[in-house]
Amino acid sequence: MENIRSLKCLICGRQYRADDVDYVCADHGDEGILDVQYDYDFIGRQISPETLSHSNDFTIWRYKPLLPVHPETEVPPLSVGWTPLYYAPRVAADLGLKHVWVKDEGRQPTASLKDRASAVAVVKAKEKNAEIITTASTGNAAAALGGLCASIRQANVIFVPQSAPQAKIAQMLVFGSRVVLVRGTYDDAFDLCLNASKAYGWYNRNTAYNPYMTEGKKTAAYEICEQLNWEAPDRIFVSVGDGCIIGGLHKGLKDLLALGWIGKMPKLMGIQASGSSYMYDAWKNGEDILTKPSIHAQTVADSISAGLPRDRIKALAAVKETGGAFVSVEDNEILAAIPALARGAGVFAEPAGAAAYAGLVKAVDLQLVARDETIVVLNTGNGLKDVSGAMQAVNLANTAPFIVSPDMEALKQVVAGWKDQI
Ligand SMILES: *Cc1c(COP(=O)(O)O)cnc(C)c1O
Ligand SMILES: [Zn+2]
Repeated sequence: MENIRSLKCLICGRQYRADDVDYVCADHGDEGILDVQYDYDFIGRQISPETLSHSNDFTIWRYKPLLPVHPETEVPPLSVGWTPLYYAPRVAADLGLKHVWVKDEGRQPTASLKDRASAVAVVKAKEKNAEIITTASTGNAAAALGGLCASIRQANVIFVPQSAPQAKIAQMLVFGSRVVLVRGTYDDAFDLCLNASKAYGWYNRNTAYNPYMTEGKKTAAYEICEQLNWEAPDRIFVSVGDGCIIGGLHKGLKDLLALGWIGKMPKLMGIQASGSSYMYDAWKNGEDILTKPSIHAQTVADSISAGLPRDRIKALAAVKETGGAFVSVEDNEILAAIPALARGAGVFAEPAGAAAYAGLVKAVDLQLVARDETIVVLNTGNGLKDVSGAMQAVNLANTAPFIVSPDMEALKQVVAGWKDQI
């Protein structure tokens, strides 16, 4: 791949040729996460805002020269990327802000941002002629891998905690994935998947361990900037579990700065659930994330429940190097954010997606945000992914359906009770 210079270890800085390494730094084992280094002069000759303005490809592959794939490799047919970025003036007004945008990753083919990474994973696996792809997941990465694999008839094995939401497990099974429910946490599933991939030689999509997942997720940052006519926003709010998405956003923005397509680096705001706040704690207390032990993670937002964030090096750099912040939100704030975002912008988020909005509410409260900033809230997953989470949220918001007999008399009694409420 002519666009790639090397893969660089985030711990020791050792560089590898892309052909010489699949996953991690040989000197640092499973923790030796690699970062793809690009040749921006080369890329700048292949693609520009001007060429993009004429592109008819409204998927992540419109940015192919910026992605770690061979130009000739076939890409999967599912339409991944180019999700809508909605202007949300009522949300902004509610918070006393001027410019809030919501990017809805619930509109991806399997209904979460994870499709961006899984699309790259199936291409990389094809380049390796892999027979089987595997991943561990809290649910969405697996559903994404299942869907992308189904689109090209690629065998895959998936490890998820038994507690994953039913809709996510149903998705994987519907797509024909071989699903292993692990009696344990996501972190247990991750370790088991890693051991299995080593024992059986399966291609491993695991977040962070596979250096190319960041590269898929970074396309969300490209889209945000392109959809804002290359005027980078001031802040982006995103929820953080393993830290791959926020690291990916940072990577995408660094690419755009290096190419000179945007003029400033947005501040990245990493939102964590208080019951799964490894990154928030480490950042606030100045702890060393290479030695900080894993925590016990427990939150209603299953997609950001991670005891040991696998992409913690990239996640911490994303916040520190952009002058952003980590923000911690309680489960009840996350649940309250589901109807708030849905009613304010018409975007129905799963708990981890709504957490980004809860983080914005909290950040306004903490006076971390200035009124005239341009703010993007990234909804990472669709609300239909976790119906029981949504039902908890509406219960908490005191909204319930009205149950009537099928006649007008019964209905009249109900409607009479509404008075001026509608
Ligand atoms: C995976 C996921 C996240 C968190 O992404 P990380 O890379 O693990 O930090 C947030 N929201 C949703 C819906 C997800 O699926
Ligand atoms: Zn190393």
